[in-house]
Formats: sequence, C-alpha cells, structure tokens
Amino acid sequence: MAIARTVVIAGGGIGGLATAVGLARKGYRSIVLEQAAQLGEIGAGIQLGPNAFHAFDYLGVGEAARAKAVFIDKLRLMDALSGEEITHIPLDEPFRARFRNPYAVVHRGDLYGVFLKACRESDLVELRTSHAVTGYEQDGKRVRARLRGGSAIEGDVLVGADGLRSAVRAQLVGDGEPRVSGHSTYRSVIPTEQMPEDLRWNAATLWAGPKVHLVHYPLTDWKLFNLVVTCHNDAAQAVAGEPANKDDVRKWFSHIAPRAQQIIEHGQNWKRWVLCDREPVEHWVDGRVTILGDAAHPMLQYAAQGACMAMEDAVCISHMLGSHDDIDAALAAYQRQRVTRTARLQVLSRLIGEFVYHPAGAMALMRNAVMSAMKPAEYYDRLTWLYGGTGLGDAQ
Ligand SMILES: Cc1cc2nc3c(=O)[nH]c(=O)nc-3n(C[C@H](O)[C@H](O)[C@H](O)COP(=O)(O)OP(=O)(O)OC[C@H]3O[C@@H](n4cnc5c(N)ncnc54)[C@H](O)[C@@H]3O)c2cc1C
Repeated sequence: MAIARTVVIAGGGIGGLATAVGLARKGYRSIVLEQAAQLGEIGAGIQLGPNAFHAFDYLGVGEAARAKAVFIDKLRLMDALSGEEITHIPLDEPFRARFRNPYAVVHRGDLYGVFLKACRESDLVELRTSHAVTGYEQDGKRVRARLRGGSAIEGDVLVGADGLRSAVRAQLVGDGEPRVSGHSTYRSVIPTEQMPEDLRWNAATLWAGPKVHLVHYPLTDWKLFNLVVTCHNDAAQAVAGEPANKDDVRKWFSHIAPRAQQIIEHGQNWKRWVLCDREPVEHWVDGRVTILGDAAHPMLQYAAQGACMAMEDAVCISHMLGSHDDIDAALAAYQRQRVTRTARLQVLSRLIGEFVYHPAGAMALMRNAVMSAMKPAEYYDRLTWLYGGTGLGDAQ
C-alpha cells in the first residue's frame, strides 16, 4: 500500500482544520500544529454566505454545519442616525434558488466544533497543541516546519494557516506587520431574552452611521444574540480581544439614534479588537510551502467573508492536491485560482467600510438613495461572482 503524503498545517483555526478535513478526503495525512494549549474559537458569531455552504458540502460537513446554523431571512441595512430602514436584501427562496444554498449565521464555537469533530474522526488527521511554528526550511522535496523550542516536523507540503501574524507568511512574503485600520470593534454575545424585543429580528442587521456601525443577529437556536459595534476612531495599535467596559464602548456612539445606542446598553463582557488587514500579494507559494486563510489574505470584516474565504481556500488546496500528482503543479494551480478572488475581497471590504458602513453627510445620503433604489435581483446579480461558486472557478 502506498504511504499517504503528509501535509503539515501551521495553525488550528477554521482555515487549518477545514484544510485537514479536505485533505483527508483526498487521502492526504495532515499534522496540524497549533500554538495555543487548547483548540477553540472566540465566543462570537459569524455570517456565512452561500459560498460557505458550497464549501461545507465539498468538505463533507454540509449536514453538520447546517444543523448548527440559523437561517436568517434578510440582510437589513438601517440608518443609524434616523433609526429608519434604508433597505433589505431578501434571503428567501429566490435567493436560495439563485445561489443553490442559503445565507446563515452561526456561533464560531459551533462551526469550529463541526470541523474539530471531523478531524478527530479521521485517522489521517493529527492535532498537536502547544506547537508554535517559527519558520521553515526545505530541500526541493521535503519541508520542515521549525518549532519554538528548536525541534521540527517534516512533511511533503507546509500550509501556513496561522492567521494575521503568520510566521509562515513572514518568511514566505516578508511584508512585515499588518496594516492597522484605525477601526475599533467591540464584541458581545447576550442571551436572547436580554435583546430588546422589537429588535429580535431574523436578520443580519447593520446600523450604519458616521464613522460607526452596529451589527446584530441571532445565534445557536435563537438562544443568543451576537452584537458587534465598531467605530473608526483612528486607533493606532492592533488589539485582539482586550476586555472593555460599557463606558469605553458607548462614548463613540453618542451621535446616533437612541434606538441604535440602546443596543450597546444590552451588551455584557465587551471585548475590543483593533482591526487589521494587508495589501493583496500575488505570490503565495515558495517551493513546497504555501499560505491560506488570514495568513494569505487578511481582510476587514465588512464583506463578512474572511472565514468563508479560508474555507474556500481549504476546498481549493484539497482539490488541487487531490487532482495533481505533481505537488508543485498543484500549489501553482491553487495560487492561480485563489489570488484574484481573495484580493477582490480585501479591496472590496475596505470600500464597503468607507462607502456603506461609515459615510456621513452627502455621502450617506447618496448611499441611502442608491441602495434603497436597488431591487433584490440587482443585488443578486452583483453578488453572483462571490456566492455562485466554491472558489474553484465555478461561479456563474
Ligand atoms: C469582528 C470580525 C467579524 C468577522 N466576521 C466574519 C463573518 O461574518 N464571516 C466570515 O466569513 N469571516 C468573518 N471574520 C473573519 C474571520 O474571523 C477570519 O477570516 C477567520 O477566522 C480566519 O481563519 P484562519 O483559520 O485563517 O485564521 P485564525 O482564525 O486567525 O486561526 C489561526 C490559528 O493559528 C494559530 N497560530 C498563529 N500563529 C501560529 C504559529 N506561529 N504556530 C502555530 N499556530 C499558530 C492561532 O492560534 C489560531 O488558532 C470576521 C473577523 C472579525 C475580526
């Protein structure tokens, strides 16, 4: 019997685990090296476009992921100054028929659990915690991931799925620190009964105001609500998950409608992030080493696609390694397929932040006029490139 090829994956986030699951389906063995002592995700929600469901199905976890999702029926855009709805995009049958899958929201822990279970059930996936990758070396055939402490793990391929501050990317791309956006995001998850009753909508709701916005949606069988509020306050330092008290949060939102401000009052245990991204790059491959997910294309969260893209990357790299005998050709095909699509989202996310989420004055009036005049079918047409495929070039 042939010995399975081994892929070493740096990083056990959603992207790393999804890759291990996808590779196992192609007969590859994976060793996932996670720096943290425990595997897990932060307590917050995540939005999933239909492209995430195409990816779940390809990765063989479609049913398990659907069981954890809340299927919302609209994306609702509110004007945070007037408190009025600007528009909404229906996610009902015509949307699902068009994109062959639904739009949903899910708790990160639940989504992570789906991939973790699939990894644990596979004989081909090995998960190692407290293993921090510091770099790599290779000889043209084999690659060795260097670990903090001096040891190394060898395989046929190394995939850097080690997030925004990827050690693999640092060596492969070498583009230094991520770009600090100056946007501070505060996150909270609350029991549904603490959410104002008149805002318990089955929607991903965005309240957009000058230099600020708020997002909320239900999670986990409607037991919880995800709250995310963001201000463009020119924060200079990157921050990830620092506790914040309510006064710190509310001071940035005093200029918006009371109904929108009130949402903040219901949040508890707020945590703060200062968001970062990077410029798109075209080279993701160095010999037998490549990058994936936030390590490859970190983006602001405004298109709600960072994790969706990480899962699409997992589909694509599994597909390419499964369909090419030549590893170099497989990695080249993976890069070719993924760079443009993800670059488009990195750029789009910044633009949406500026022109949809945070404009003021005449720019906000223009947003309201343009977006309220658009029919659902026009939104669907504009989203087809994104929601219509698995990222393997099959979007129609
Ligand atoms: C506020 C906010 C809202 C968002 N909302 C959405 C959304 O609605 N929809 C969506 O699709 N995306 C969303 N995203 C983006 C999404 O969270 C990320 O794109 C996604 O989690 C990236 O997954 P990843 O596996 O590539 O990286 P990560 O989740 O960062 O995982 C990287 C893993 O690697 C580990 N690691 C790091 N360095 C090393 C090392 N040297 N050695 C070993 N292990 C290492 C880390 O501990 C971590 O476990 C949002 C992001 C933010 C900030």
